This record gives sequence, structure tokens and C-alpha cells, in this order.
Amino acid sequence: MRDVLGVLTRKALWTALLAASAGAAAQDFPVDIPGITADPRTRPPVGLLLPEAEQPDLVTPLAILDRLVVPGARMQLEWRPRGGISNAEIASPVIVARGAMSGPVLCLAAGVHGDEINGVEIVRRISHSVDPTRLSGTVIGVPIVNVFGYSRGSRYLPDRRDLNRYFPGSRQGSIASRIAHGFFQDIVRHCDVLVDFHTGSFDRANLPQVRADLTNPDVLEFTRGFGATVVLHSPGNKGMLRVAATAVGIPAVTFEAGAPTRLEPAEIAEAVAAIERLMVKLEMHEDPDASQAPPADVAAVALPAPEPPPIFLDSRWVRANSGGLLISEVSLGQRVLAGQKLGRVIDPVSNVERYILAPVPGRVIGMSLNQAVLPGYAAFHLGTETSEQQAVREAARPHAPDAVAEDPEERPETAKEQDGEDFE
Ligand SMILES: [Zn+2]
Repeated sequence: MRDVLGVLTRKALWTALLAASAGAAAQDFPVDIPGITADPRTRPPVGLLLPEAEQPDLVTPLAILDRLVVPGARMQLEWRPRGGISNAEIASPVIVARGAMSGPVLCLAAGVHGDEINGVEIVRRISHSVDPTRLSGTVIGVPIVNVFGYSRGSRYLPDRRDLNRYFPGSRQGSIASRIAHGFFQDIVRHCDVLVDFHTGSFDRANLPQVRADLTNPDVLEFTRGFGATVVLHSPGNKGMLRVAATAVGIPAVTFEAGAPTRLEPAEIAEAVAAIERLMVKLEMHEDPDASQAPPADVAAVALPAPEPPPIFLDSRWVRANSGGLLISEVSLGQRVLAGQKLGRVIDPVSNVERYILAPVPGRVIGMSLNQAVLPGYAAFHLGTETSEQQAVREAARPHAPDAVAEDPEERPETAKEQDGEDFE
């Protein structure tokens, strides 16, 4: 009887809350929600509080960008970067799906580099397809963080700054710093976890992969949710969105998929599937496969254990030693042996061909698209497979501080040949 009453009370509260908040959300001006102060995600309005033992799992409207998004609803909002470029700055779409049931706030960001459009489509697709009436928690999708770069097909901001080196930003800094600050305050502060989508840079393609600081236990736990996706340990550089978010207690990773300036259906589908697995792991969704599972007595016979995600501990870029036309002889995801030909560089003037060989066995997790290259160009990214335990152990070891350069343009002259790089 008590349980039934509990359910009825909960239903009545729901109805009252939805009615109240739906009215509020219809307004077009900033609204203050009575009784909600510090954290609108977790505090029910005053007057609806029950005794501790009977407190239901209430979902309150989410107050974000001067609007309220009620449970069970999706809204497309506008975020206006305050970079000071002009008064008529372009608005960036923010799609908020507030689940009917309680759960974590998963933020999906893309287009921090404006030419990396695979992520734009990944975030757009997930944000608009998730069903808020069946969702536990909230999905906040920002497909185009750097609207200035996106509108010009450029990785950078109009002043050639790389936005992914300026988080969490500051109110008084460069435009990059101001935009980063606005995004961090307006959006990132609402997140419980965050995935930032990127692609390879400068005509390079990346196998779909998660990059994360595996020395952080919360981030490590977060990476376990993506299923059979490549996970690469990378502490990241100061100013990256994932580094800044993790630093304030929001576990964050980068998800790399494909190459810039193009839309690649296979990579997009793989990333979308990985996020769907993540949402099942975070208990935001029911597992769609679980409902089709065979009866218990059949399942007990022979269901293979799910494949654990491979983790690449160590990765290294293999460089072109000569200038010329690079033609690859491997494909993304391919496993290679030490000494195997990865590609050749043809000097069109002298007609001399030189091969680029794999220095170690591994898997091609990133590679250049065929193009003209100069000596020293990072051409192939090889990952060496390992166990999660080994990856975590190795990640915790003190590496040389400058061993990993994040950007080929920033590569120090003293960099050793075997130095790894990544290009988020
Ligand atoms: Zn990027």
C-alpha cells in the first residue's frame, strides 16, 4: 500500500512540476526558477520537498542559456560566442534533450576546429535522434563550437588562433580566450561528462579512437563505456577542452574520427554507435540488444563475453624522410609488421622513390592522405596494442615532459624521431 501511495504521490508531483515548468518555458525572457539556486539539475523546487526517506527521483527543468528545458523535452537553443568580433555574431546551435528520468548530463561538442565536420554530423545526429521521453539524464549537443571557423571552412579562429589551446579561457583575453571562456561558463559547467569530437588535422585521417588521460581514474572509467573502440593514452596539452573540463572535475575525452573537410559515413556511423554504447553504460538508455536476448535458459548455454576495448598505450608518428609525392600502401586500421612498407615518397624531379617503413609492429591508427609532403612530415601514426592494466601502468610512469607535441607546427627542432604526436 505504501509503495502504491509512493507511486501516486510521485505521479502527482510529476504532473504539477511539468505543468509549472511548461508554462515557464514558454516565456521568451530569462526566468528565475523559484527555489533553485546553485545547482538546478539536482534541487527540486521548494514546496515539493518530501521527507528524506520518501523523496522521489525528481527531474527538474534544466536552466541553461536563459531558458528552461523541461523533463521529457528537446529544445534547440542558441549560444552566442562573446568573442568581441562584432555585435552581430553568429549563433551556435545547442540542442538539449532533457530526459524524463534522472541521470547524468552528457555533453557532446564538435567543430572546435571548424573544418572537422564529421563531428558536426555525429553530434547533430545523436542530439536530434535521442528520445527525451525515454532518456535517463540529459544530452547537451553543440555541433559547431567554432562557428567562425566552420563558416569559413577553417580549423582556426579569424585571427589564426587554435580555439583548442585556450580553454577554460578568460573574460579579458584574446578572442580565442573569450570564446573559450563563454563556452566553458555557458555550457561546460552544466556537464557531468564530456566528449569532444575531432578528426585528423592537415590532410590526415584518424581511425575512430578515444584519446584520454588514463592516469585520471574518473577518465579511465569513462573510457570503458565506449565498447570496442580504440583508446589511446594521451595526457593532452594545456588549453584543450578535454583537459580543462577534466581539471574542474568533469571527466572528458576527445573522440577522433576520420579526416577534416569531408563527411565520412563509415566513421560517422562508428562514432554514433560508440556513443550509443556509452549511453547504455551510463544507464541513460536501455540496451536495445537486451530486449531481444534469448530466454535465460538459452542464454546460459553459450553467449560469448563481449570483446573488451583494445587500448593502445604507445603510439608514434612515422615521418617522411624526403620530400615528394606520398602514396600510401596501407589503410586505416591495418595491422603492420616491423619493416613493412607503409608508403612511398616519389620525387617528381629526380624520379627517385623512397619507401617509408614501419619501425615497429602495430596498427595504423592515423595516416596522411596522399599528398605532396616535405621532409619530416608526420605520415603514419602507429599504435601498439596492450592491455588496459599495462596501459594504465605505463601512463602513470613519468615521461619526458615534451615527449608528445600536439601540433606538427609546434614540433621542437630537438624532437627525436620516435617522438609521438597527436593533433587534436
Ligand atoms: Zn580537431
